[in-house]
Amino acid sequence: MPPWEIDDLKNRKVAKIVFPTLYGAVLDYLVPPQMVQKLEPGMRVMVPLGKGNKPTAAYCVDIKSPPLTVQLKPLLSIIDDRRLLDDKMLELTRWIADYYLCPFGQVLEAVLPAGVRSQAGTRLTTVLYPAPLTPQSADAKTILTKKQFHVLDVLRQSPEPLTSGELQHAAKCSPAPIDGLKRLKLVLVKTVRRNSVSTGELVPPPPQLVAPLTLNADQKRVLTEIVSTVQDRKHETFLLHGITGSGKTEVYIQAIQEVVRRRKQAIVLVPEISLTPQTVGRFKSRFDNVAVLHSHLTDAERHRQWMSIISGEVQVVVGARSAVFAPLPKLGLIVIDEEHEHSFKQDTAPRYHARDVARKRAELLSIPLILGSATPALETYQLTTRTLSMPQRVKNLRLPDVQIVDLREEVRQRTTRGAIHRQLYRAVYEALRNKGQVILLLNRRGFSTHIQCPACGEVVKCPNCDVTLIHHRSEEIALCHYCDYQIPAPARCPKCNFLGINYSGFGTQKLEAEIKSRFPDATVLRMDTDTMQGPGAHERALTRFRNGEVNILLGTQMIAKGLDFPNVTLVGVINADTALNLPDFRAAEKTFHLLTQVAGRTGRGDKGGRVIIQTFSPDHPAITAASKHDYERFVKQELPVRKSLGYPPFSSMIRIVVRGEDERKTLEFAQTLAAEFVPQKKELRILGPAPAPFAKLRNFYRFHIHLHCPDGEYLRETVRDVSKELKVPNGVQYVIDVDPVDML
Ligand code: ADP
Ligand code: ZN
Repeated sequence: MPPWEIDDLKNRKVAKIVFPTLYGAVLDYLVPPQMVQKLEPGMRVMVPLGKGNKPTAAYCVDIKSPPLTVQLKPLLSIIDDRRLLDDKMLELTRWIADYYLCPFGQVLEAVLPAGVRSQAGTRLTTVLYPAPLTPQSADAKTILTKKQFHVLDVLRQSPEPLTSGELQHAAKCSPAPIDGLKRLKLVLVKTVRRNSVSTGELVPPPPQLVAPLTLNADQKRVLTEIVSTVQDRKHETFLLHGITGSGKTEVYIQAIQEVVRRRKQAIVLVPEISLTPQTVGRFKSRFDNVAVLHSHLTDAERHRQWMSIISGEVQVVVGARSAVFAPLPKLGLIVIDEEHEHSFKQDTAPRYHARDVARKRAELLSIPLILGSATPALETYQLTTRTLSMPQRVKNLRLPDVQIVDLREEVRQRTTRGAIHRQLYRAVYEALRNKGQVILLLNRRGFSTHIQCPACGEVVKCPNCDVTLIHHRSEEIALCHYCDYQIPAPARCPKCNFLGINYSGFGTQKLEAEIKSRFPDATVLRMDTDTMQGPGAHERALTRFRNGEVNILLGTQMIAKGLDFPNVTLVGVINADTALNLPDFRAAEKTFHLLTQVAGRTGRGDKGGRVIIQTFSPDHPAITAASKHDYERFVKQELPVRKSLGYPPFSSMIRIVVRGEDERKTLEFAQTLAAEFVPQKKELRILGPAPAPFAKLRNFYRFHIHLHCPDGEYLRETVRDVSKELKVPNGVQYVIDVDPVDML
């Protein structure tokens, strides 16, 4: 071989390429000499793919100089002029793919928002805008479904036209209602050249910065511990266990100030529902440059945010789950508030848990992670070594007294036909008389939750899903909460035609009607996903409540979290048992969390507060512990139960859901799959396949398999091996969920 060729060989580089489409595969490509200087891992490139050498966009994840044995195709071009992912982020994504058993390319797609992945600059985009109002369109509007109405409303409210994807996101809908609106010519389509970076948005003036509060003794102690870890530049996961109103947010803020003083940056993750202007305002009033990442951003806005974060301008990113990937160049601290919240787990692939991703990211960067909660997840409680506690409310406010009402007794005595029994009625009455505000929690939306024929026993169910239809009185429909299937609310039994079918069970709509009739002078506001549609609805409602225009706020769990209103003197839980009897090993924990959280909404002002919990299970440990605000007591009861059953946090768990439209074929595949797991270790337990609690959803039959093992790495390895070899029949799919949270 001539010397110049050897030299050339030495300079040759090979790029490891991952595809968003060919999930999983990592292919080698040759880096042409003119690109060697420019290309870095974490950039996107165009490569020829397949027999036809189709130019395809893909990710360069590594660059090597391996021995050259095979002939490689060269890269075509480099897409990005900067790295989208640095080494640590690449390592993090690799870890996610490995841990959650999902393809690397899929993780990269999840980490980089769509607005960033789409090529920079302008591009042709198809957008939707509402048709101008005409008599014809007014006619057409009368036949709209509720969903279509809502979609149209969202589009009308939007300051700029939206793409179909953006509209689906903003209106939380499938493409179906949009297509319907297009057919009716209520929504028009046009192709525009759109700047992928939004320009039209108004930038609000920065608020006046506010001075730090003087910390109390607990806050000081906790802050000192955190700051010393920041100084040591090492990783530590802190559990900040502070009761509701103990001043955790002030601690986060002052810890971040330390980090910012060292010219570093921070991420604060909060549940999407808590991402209100009130929360965000607390951070914006303390830092010059705060970026907020929530799920309503358009692709263009997200892209703009992302660019300003990666440039290092932003000091603090406040956001929901996916903000854990915010590309801050000098990340110095991650905070997760309400770390026990299940919304931190993504329920589509990649099914990552932001808490565990944050822990890994913090480890890789040698920075601290703070997990804050009044009711830490049992996993966090058990697995975190550094616990900092704040057992008192600031300003020495007392936690509210909690009274339990035994519904069995109330029902036996037939004290009311409604949902509000004597004690709660009296308490509402007194709270209103003393000019206090009331929060009532009922975790079920709709009017009646059960429709059944007394003559033949038929329960009105969804034909696509194995669930009952819920009566919504405003539109007089019976609606499926899973697939939106709906029929006019039946007066006769659909099976035996008996006139006088029974509507029973309480949803928030029925509760609202009851309150209006029993407290006619009070102003009532209902918050659930039916009333809180459209941008800003949530915040407008809370503003009315905060201003005192509303006396009674009632709603689903969306009212249980984070609200800080000093004038709330009563919290009532209509039925504490809604989550208690679900077939989920975390049912007790979820109930305890919900009750403790909602109880914490009162007693935040001078007037004090009280809580009334109505329940059919007054002796259940989750309920008695919540009534005493006693987290330790709950943990002491619950952990041994988990241990004896081999559930997390004492074992790792993987749930596999198999689904398909053909019931027999689906079950057969689930059985074959379960049989593949021949445990090498005795501790690996395989349960199932069994029908999932929702045995049928949207026409798909569902079976699940649970695998438990104290050795998580072994468990993942086993499932990885099995899934590699698997032949999946047509029409059947399966989903692997590592550390599952949704058990239904
Ligand atoms: P948590 O996040 O633990 O529920 P917050 O941080 O929201 O608690 O604090 C509850 C209330 O107490 C807030 O209104 C906050 O402004 C106030 N607060 C927090 N720390 C102090 C302090 N050191 N001095 C005075 N008020 C404080
Ligand atoms: Zn359905």
